[in-house]
Amino acid sequence: MFPHPLTAPLQRVVLPILETKKVDWFVKRLDLVHPLLSGNKYYKLKYNMLHAQREGTKRLLTFGGAFSNHIYSAAAAAHLAKMEIIGCIRGEISTPLNPTLQAASDMGMILFPMERNTYRNKSSPQVIEMLREQFGNCYLIPEGGTNSLAIRGCQEILDESDRAFDTICTSLGTGGTMAGILASANAHQHILGFSALKGDFVQTDFEELLRNHSLNPAADWEIFTHYHCGGYAKHSAALLELMRSFFRTTGIPLDPIYTGKMVMGILDLLEKDYFRPGSRLLMIHSGGLQGNKGFEWRWKQALYPE
Ligand SMILES: *Cc1c(COP(=O)(O)O)cnc(C)c1O
Repeated sequence: MFPHPLTAPLQRVVLPILETKKVDWFVKRLDLVHPLLSGNKYYKLKYNMLHAQREGTKRLLTFGGAFSNHIYSAAAAAHLAKMEIIGCIRGEISTPLNPTLQAASDMGMILFPMERNTYRNKSSPQVIEMLREQFGNCYLIPEGGTNSLAIRGCQEILDESDRAFDTICTSLGTGGTMAGILASANAHQHILGFSALKGDFVQTDFEELLRNHSLNPAADWEIFTHYHCGGYAKHSAALLELMRSFFRTTGIPLDPIYTGKMVMGILDLLEKDYFRPGSRLLMIHSGGLQGNKGFEWRWKQALYPE
C-alpha cells in the first residue's frame, strides 16, 4: 500500500580541495528515492502513512507554509496511498497558485488557508476542535512532519554499508531527520547537522527532541548554526553561485533552503581544516528540489540557467 523506496545512489564528489585536504566526500542521493515522494520526507512520512492506513483513517490533515516541501510531500504520500488530505496553509492562498501548492492541489490535496494567528495556535485545543468540526476526524501530521513515527522512518536512511563513513552530514529544520540518523548511527560516527534556521535555540530544541523521544545515541553530534544565510528561506548571491558551481562540477542539484546551505557549510569547514586528513564524509541529500520551482517563481530567476 505504500511504495518502496529505490536505493539511494552514492555519488562521489570530486573537487581539488578534497585532494588537498585528503578528505573523501560522498553524497547519498535521497532526492532520487521516488519520483513523487523523495528526500527525507519519504522516510518521515512512511510510518505515519502505514499507521494511518492500519487505523483505517481515510483522511489526513497537516500544516505548512505555501512553499513547504512537507506540504508537497504529504500531498504526494496521500496521493500514492489513495487517501484524502487537507493542507492547512499559513496565511492567505493567492491565485494563481505557486508551483508547490499547484502540484499539491493537482495531487488531490484540499488547501485550507489559515490566518497567521490561528496558524500560530494550531496545536491548541480550540483550533484542533475547529478543524474537527470542519473536516471530521483526521489523522494529524504536525508541521514539518516530525513525530516519533517520522524519527523511526529516518532511522532507515543509513544502512550497513554507510558504516564505512566516519562523518555524516545532514541538514536540519525541526531536527527529526537528524534524530533518526543519530539514533541509527554507529558509535564511531560523528553526525553533523547544518541548521537552516537562524538562532541558537536549535541546539536546545534538538536536545529536547532527543529527550522527548528517549533517544540516547551512541554517536556524537554537533549542530552548526551559522550557515543559514540570514535566516530560514533567506538566500544570498553567494549561496546561489555556490549551488551553481557545485552543480557544474558534480551534476548534483541542490535546493537553496536546506541542502545548498549544508554544502556551503561543508566547504567552509573543509577550508578551515575541520575534517582530519583521511576523513570519509557522507552527506545526506535530503531532497527538497520541488522547492526550486517555487523559488524561481517567487524570485523570478532561474536557479540553474542554461
Ligand atoms: C524538511 C527538510 C529538511 C528538514 O528536515 P527536519 O527533519 O525537519 O530537520 C531538510 N532538508 C530538506 C530538503 C527538507 O525538505
